[in-house]
Amino acid sequence: MTKFAIGIDLGGTYTKLALVDTNGRVSHRSKLSTTAYGTRAGLVGAIVAEVMAVLGKARLSPKKVLGVGIGVPGIVDFRRGHVYYLTNVPGWKDTPLKKMLEAKLGLPVLVDNDVNLMALGESRFGAGKGAENLVCITLGTGVGGGIIIGGDLYRGSSFSAGEVGHMPLKEEGLPCGCGSYGCLERYVGNRYIVDELKAKIRRGSPTIIKKLVNGDLSALTPEVISKAAQKRDRLSIDFWDTVGERIGVTLAGIVNLLNPERIIIGGGVADAGEFLFKSIRKTVNERALPVPGKTVKILKAKLGNDAGIIGAAALFFNPETRGRCK
Ligand SMILES: [Zn+2]
Repeated sequence: MTKFAIGIDLGGTYTKLALVDTNGRVSHRSKLSTTAYGTRAGLVGAIVAEVMAVLGKARLSPKKVLGVGIGVPGIVDFRRGHVYYLTNVPGWKDTPLKKMLEAKLGLPVLVDNDVNLMALGESRFGAGKGAENLVCITLGTGVGGGIIIGGDLYRGSSFSAGEVGHMPLKEEGLPCGCGSYGCLERYVGNRYIVDELKAKIRRGSPTIIKKLVNGDLSALTPEVISKAAQKRDRLSIDFWDTVGERIGVTLAGIVNLLNPERIIIGGGVADAGEFLFKSIRKTVNERALPVPGKTVKILKAKLGNDAGIIGAAALFFNPETRGRCK
């Protein structure tokens, strides 16, 4: 019998939710503003009302609903469903989110980190389907990661495993927002790559980018760099090559450490496509040990913006995870 869970993706701007069935199909999507309700209690109340509305519209008997999974951008004690803090949402320090939601919903609730859940979603229903061991990374403003070992999430001793963005790339590199130096995120994060390329253009490197942004370099985004690369702009192609090399060096370390079957890459920067992926694959091939380097497949994420919602629901599609959390 097909069963269902509600998946929720709490982001800095929007909180998205939907009904997901055990085949990974998404329906009854809905979206709330994360910031419009003032307090965390206000947002929790709005989420509860929206979950009830979705269940009402879907006319599902409670017996068919396994629970409500929610992903949040921060560090979470998964066993207790306790949010330590959220990176870009103020006022959420030490929030017993599982307790708050369960008290109002009367359904089981599981809370986890959003990138962990994206990894879980991709592993069950996306580019990781069929693989037991994989690493999923997201390339955006920040660089995040999730690790699946033996088909289940590896969360670490204090639930912070998978912080690929803060793996050191350079021994004495640029200062990073986390307080350390030379982290990968500092060299491939959205904002930093845009600034780096702007500086190159200002120094006079020839490129069609200036034309693409009508002379206004403040309009430069990774999408524009990809567009220029597609038009065979040398500077942009070389730039993605360099970014891919940096990512590839870090991934070679991950490949040697974990010997994963697949590495799945998602997030806005991943849309640079083959310009980026070719360079990542080449670098991993050159830098990883031969056996794990040949085993690993490096693929683009498949589920797009739905990955977090699907992964949140998928927490309930895994009997072992459910058992651990009751
Ligand atoms: Zn860092």
